[in-house]
Amino acid sequence: MSVTPSLTLPAHYSLFTSQKPIGHNVLTNTGRPNPSPSTASLFEVAKYNGKFTAAVYSWEHLRNLAPPEALDFVYYLNTLQRPQGDRNIAQAAADCLARFKPALLFVYLEGVDQAGHASGWMSPAYFDALAEADRAVGTLKTAIADAGIAGATDIILHSDHGGSGTHHQEATPENLTIPWIAWGPDIRRGFRIEAPVSILDTAPTIAHLLGIRPHYSWVGRPLSEIVNGRRGGAAADRPQAAGSVLTLAGAQGPRPKLGPGESAPGFSGRQMNDSESA
Ligand SMILES: [Zn+2]
Repeated sequence: MSVTPSLTLPAHYSLFTSQKPIGHNVLTNTGRPNPSPSTASLFEVAKYNGKFTAAVYSWEHLRNLAPPEALDFVYYLNTLQRPQGDRNIAQAAADCLARFKPALLFVYLEGVDQAGHASGWMSPAYFDALAEADRAVGTLKTAIADAGIAGATDIILHSDHGGSGTHHQEATPENLTIPWIAWGPDIRRGFRIEAPVSILDTAPTIAHLLGIRPHYSWVGRPLSEIVNGRRGGAAADRPQAAGSVLTLAGAQGPRPKLGPGESAPGFSGRQMNDSESA
């Protein structure tokens, strides 16, 4: 489940600070947000713990998700007028994986959201953009394998909000419902999360996978039930910091490709379509 307002910047702040918008104080898609000083971004928490942090995105407002010195690598490209924008972003992320093997890589794929605004959510163009985003995820998976870190890299894939018509402002199930999927060597295969899942849970879950303590200001919970406990314990027991990739499709509609009981092999996932309005 996303947050209210289901807008890109407030939702991303909720993702990275594990607080509702009323808590982190970023309530609009402003280019100059003024987040509450009591928040802590996953980027700075990971950096504080000595992790290599990276972000690849196509919407410049997202630079505000990390305070100065919280990121080791940043790539930004305006993809609004680029029909192959997600492809460019995925390639940049692949290059980052090959060169630096980051512990935390955030990748923002915007094409789905752009198609939704231009042609409508669930329109043919929207599904074409979903297919393009799917290919971008494939590029990332290949890059992870080529970098030799497939055995230590988990992917969390979800959107920041849904959409209906050509917008996503109102607090409707179509706008608030998002898919949330995890995949990788530490993730239980074919496991379907039954408990309600919030976008606030993403940062604590990634911290859990990276073996670092969640920040005290975070209100979400780590979805520890998706972790398979390989190596005889939690992922925190790993001797080496493992790569953890967060990939965000800019938006997806109310019917993600994985339906109830249709979890793809190797994935833990849930459609967050309960009535929670975090
Ligand atoms: Zn949008």
